[in-house]
Amino acid sequence: MLPYGRQSISDADIDAVVAALRGDWLTTGPLVAELEQRIGELAGGHRAVSCTSGTAALHMAYAAAGVGPGDEVVCTPMTFVASASGASLLGASVVFADIDPETGLIDPDAVAAAVGERTKVVTAVDYAGQPADYGRLQPLANEVGALTLADAAHSIGATLDGRPVGDLADMTTFSFFPTKNLTTGEGGAAVFRDPALAQRAHEFHFIGLVRDPARFRMTDEGPWHQEVHELGVNYRLTDVASALGLSQLNRLEAFKRRRAEIVARYDERLADVPGLALPGRRPGADPVWHLYPVRVLEGRRREVYDRMRAAGIGVQVNYIPVYWHPVYADLGHRRGACPNAEAFYAQELSLPLFPDLTDDDVDRVVDALRAALR
Ligand SMILES: *Cc1c(COP(=O)(O)O)cnc(C)c1O
Repeated sequence: MLPYGRQSISDADIDAVVAALRGDWLTTGPLVAELEQRIGELAGGHRAVSCTSGTAALHMAYAAAGVGPGDEVVCTPMTFVASASGASLLGASVVFADIDPETGLIDPDAVAAAVGERTKVVTAVDYAGQPADYGRLQPLANEVGALTLADAAHSIGATLDGRPVGDLADMTTFSFFPTKNLTTGEGGAAVFRDPALAQRAHEFHFIGLVRDPARFRMTDEGPWHQEVHELGVNYRLTDVASALGLSQLNRLEAFKRRRAEIVARYDERLADVPGLALPGRRPGADPVWHLYPVRVLEGRRREVYDRMRAAGIGVQVNYIPVYWHPVYADLGHRRGACPNAEAFYAQELSLPLFPDLTDDDVDRVVDALRAALR
């Protein structure tokens, strides 16, 4: 089965991991700091905090923002559940705002209708690798004293109007899961425009430990002294994983180029296929294409999904609207709330897209899709 996404691991990646294993630090060492430095530089020159997954990064960002009971987080439903669940875990209510039907990105008009006095964070997802419309989302958040959060699990390395992902929202989170644009196995990071938020995120993911003597509230017990002021978790990324991440970062530009080539080939070869809508484009975006999300029209998505799978093509569906999950249904969220997202979901099919996919593979996918739609 040709997968829909897959990591690309080079000899250099393997050598980097082996070197880390032979070194002094398996975790909390210099490679973690170096990875955070490099991600921060890539993402607009802001401080990055690494962590164990994209899900952890979202939890960490919401915790840094001080999200808690009584707060609302406005979020797209066209995403993986973690974009919303990090806020729910902290006791906030999630308000889902509908998407643009062409791009799958959160619709600023829907956000304008959803924000209010209780809104603490507005969360967009850079669906498929195209940045959302932060130029409109930021003022909407600012007006009610909320922060913007970009779930950039799909879009590390992308830009919007020349500005890098990481510089587009107050907080930006990344995932380094194997199917994403670069991998550390499991892993993630968050980037913050406000250094104070980054410090809070760092402490949250580091068990809440405070090691700066200037901030001690107890009498200093000695050289071993450290204090906990707020509860935290251990979401630390290891040096072994960071070694892989650093090596993968050297390849990100090449990954981006190859993903764009594959997208161009799909675009060209699928342009005239009836019953199919190709991914909508976001003006001003230079994406890193993580997904190639076509829409299968005329109610034929399930049939086409089954035929592609039977032909050995591992297509995927991204995503079931978040509020359909029983955990959100149990909280009172009802189907029908975001009609564009539900219509998008009903038609969406993600075709295989990863850097090591060959042109022949792409042509095989195209032929199988044409046959499935006949
Ligand atoms: C993958 C993904 C996540 C979660 O990342 P993990 O590293 O798998 O925990 C969150 N949001 C989106 C949009 C994702 O695609």
